[in-house]
Amino acid sequence: MNKTTMSLVLPLSMTAWKVVERFNGLVNSHQKSIRGFVIPMNWNSPLHPEFLTTDGRRFSVNRVFCIAKNYEEHAKEMGGEIDRKSPFYFQKSFDAVTFEPNVRYPTYTDDLHHEVELVAVVGKGGRNLSLADAETVIFGYAVGIDFTRRDRQMEAKEKGRPWEVAKNFDDSGAMGVVTPKTEIGLMRDAVITLEVNGELRQSGDIKQMAYNVAELIAFLSTLQELKSGDLIYTGTPSGVGRVICGDRLVGKIDGLVTLDICLV
Ligand code: MN
Repeated sequence: MNKTTMSLVLPLSMTAWKVVERFNGLVNSHQKSIRGFVIPMNWNSPLHPEFLTTDGRRFSVNRVFCIAKNYEEHAKEMGGEIDRKSPFYFQKSFDAVTFEPNVRYPTYTDDLHHEVELVAVVGKGGRNLSLADAETVIFGYAVGIDFTRRDRQMEAKEKGRPWEVAKNFDDSGAMGVVTPKTEIGLMRDAVITLEVNGELRQSGDIKQMAYNVAELIAFLSTLQELKSGDLIYTGTPSGVGRVICGDRLVGKIDGLVTLDICLV
């Protein structure tokens, strides 16, 4: 066995790892257990952002599923309609999610749009979940904003291209503190609003969703195994619109922690 292989196989002692951790000022949540040794993965391995819960816990974000056209009025304002056969969704990268009060205005757009959404957090994964099981795997909920390069999305639609460039960029998934289901229970109805600089832009109720959270989880679990830390942005009510640098956005859902951010 040559030296390079050795260094990959031998676990760092936990003491050595603590030193590295302190040095970097980071806590690497990527650990792997090999033959009983818990070892940190590559130091440059991506750090998944961690969400905070109302009771002070932190958990890593895994994948980010975003449902499109889940409110009829929003589907209409986008010139479409709800697909009643199955939900339509796309994904953002986990590192597109931000919990910071200052959200960076992206490059490559002159028409950044806000979409306030209920974010459901998957606590325990599973495959092919029934609706009843889908309800049990919900960990909690938060207010989120699915930022969208609307100009790029329109181009993508015209050209029949994927929405990647329109939806998946740094800070495109703003998200607030997560309220666990153990605290708030199953959310079936709640007023959802978004104010920009104190002016009401979006307003609806999560009961207007064509597919509720359990239905979305059950659906997604038929396509891949859902895992702890998966987020589901459940779609936006009508009233989406343009925001610019310096705007203050306040997203609210009854019972959840308010999301209060600034575009910088
Ligand atoms: Mn959206």
